[in-house]
Amino acid sequence: MKTYDAIIVGAGPAGIFTVLELTRKEGAKVLLLEKGEDIDQRSSLGNLDHSAEVGNSSVADLSGWGGAGMYSDGKLTLSPDVGGFLHNFIDVKELTPLMEYVDDSYLRFGAPEKVYGLDVEEVRKLQERAEKCDLKLLPTRIRHMGTDRCPQVLRNIKESLQDKVDIRFKTSVRDIVLERNKAVGVVDEKGEEYRGKYVVLAPGRQGAEWLSGVSEQLGLSTVSNPVDIGVRVELRGSVLKELTDVTYEPKLLFTSRHFDDRVRTFCMNPYGEVIKEVYNGVSTVNGHSLENGNSDNTNFAILVSTSFTEPFNEPISYGKYIARLANFLGEGVIVQRLGDLLKGRRSTKERVARGAVKPTLQEATPGDLSFVLPYRYLTDILEMLTAMDKLAPGVYSRHTLIYGVEVKFYSMKLALSSSMETQVQNLFAIGDGAGVSRGVVQSSASGVLAGKEILRRLG
Ligand SMILES: Cc1cc2nc3c(=O)[nH]c(=O)nc-3n(C[C@H](O)[C@H](O)[C@H](O)COP(=O)(O)OP(=O)(O)OC[C@H]3O[C@@H](n4cnc5c(N)ncnc54)[C@H](O)[C@@H]3O)c2cc1C
Repeated sequence: MKTYDAIIVGAGPAGIFTVLELTRKEGAKVLLLEKGEDIDQRSSLGNLDHSAEVGNSSVADLSGWGGAGMYSDGKLTLSPDVGGFLHNFIDVKELTPLMEYVDDSYLRFGAPEKVYGLDVEEVRKLQERAEKCDLKLLPTRIRHMGTDRCPQVLRNIKESLQDKVDIRFKTSVRDIVLERNKAVGVVDEKGEEYRGKYVVLAPGRQGAEWLSGVSEQLGLSTVSNPVDIGVRVELRGSVLKELTDVTYEPKLLFTSRHFDDRVRTFCMNPYGEVIKEVYNGVSTVNGHSLENGNSDNTNFAILVSTSFTEPFNEPISYGKYIARLANFLGEGVIVQRLGDLLKGRRSTKERVARGAVKPTLQEATPGDLSFVLPYRYLTDILEMLTAMDKLAPGVYSRHTLIYGVEVKFYSMKLALSSSMETQVQNLFAIGDGAGVSRGVVQSSASGVLAGKEILRRLG
């Protein structure tokens, strides 16, 4: 049996960047195992013209070369306090150049030159206006690849790795092999064993439950992350144009008045589309856009973070329960006009059709989100929309569409060293699945951290 220097599990941004780092060493023997398909076997780019088809992203769509990053909106968020928790593992002074290093790689592989948020004076003016509306605007720099450019960038990366690494698709890893409490390989679901001096687990959010099971088996310490629950909001692009032209994605924070909860905007897609996301049979919402936009609408999430303590501490199950309730009532995702929600009535097909904002997710069922969202979340969301309306009049319009629910299963956080090594020697865990990131740049950066450490040990 061939023994590799390193085995990487998962070909999302985190796993790919570990491989890129490791192959800097001439002759490094690297094996990448991915349960999904190669790039050409994944859904074609043409599908992206129909949000419903991309939106029907079953696990198959989030798996394969590029992972969830393949159909992500490709916003490369270049500020260390956004898109993950790497600042909990390394100093911001190290994290900032690491993120620039990752960004340079994306640029080299074909990401566009333009970066939003560089006009400091314009951003400062927006921050001052936001403060007057009880909102905090986080200054962020963003390079936007768009859902159309992501596959090409990922293809370029793959081509650069040609002949340098062994890649096996349709190979789902089941177990980790330990010897004297050191990782020495993995076993796939068919029982085939692969041997490596180092093992890196990068299974993404969809593989988080598997990783959680592995952690339990190996006795690794974990901490529960908060669950983020909310809605996706869709309105005319012109309403937020002033903000999106400067920042692309304004990251707004709000502390709710009644509940004192932390509420925030997330993943804004100017002139984009709302899509459906399916995780293990539960339908939730998300959004994306093409590099130069693909609709007249802008969408974004409003999320409320909740941490549980005792006796209940199952944030993922709680989030799924709420999402299932929406699925139960709406046979999928529910859409409601804000005006209907405020009047205490459901939206119907006819009411939505009469509205000024045309839904980009056609298959959402018009309904009533007040039957789904607990009072606390609904109050927080409406308070934040009211504050945003002061910053950008039109946000709180009766025509604004609300889709529910959006849930972020950030899963558990593993106890890791600053180079992403678990408590088991030579076993590393990175990316969204390990709970260290929630975006492309930080997941990629976590891959670089693991790769650099393995290279150092390989000498
Ligand atoms: C619709 C959408 C839009 C998004 N937009 C943005 C955005 O604009 N900007 C941004 O920064 N982020 C965005 N994201 C998030 C971003 O895609 C993720 O943060 C990123 O892909 C995480 O990278 P990862 O490598 O950790 O995991 P993933 O990309 O999820 O990759 C994990 C890979 O591991 C594989 N895998 C899992 N378990 C196993 C196993 N047991 N054996 C073998 N293989 C396995 C999976 O098949 C998958 O291919 C978006 C996500 C979605 C879904």
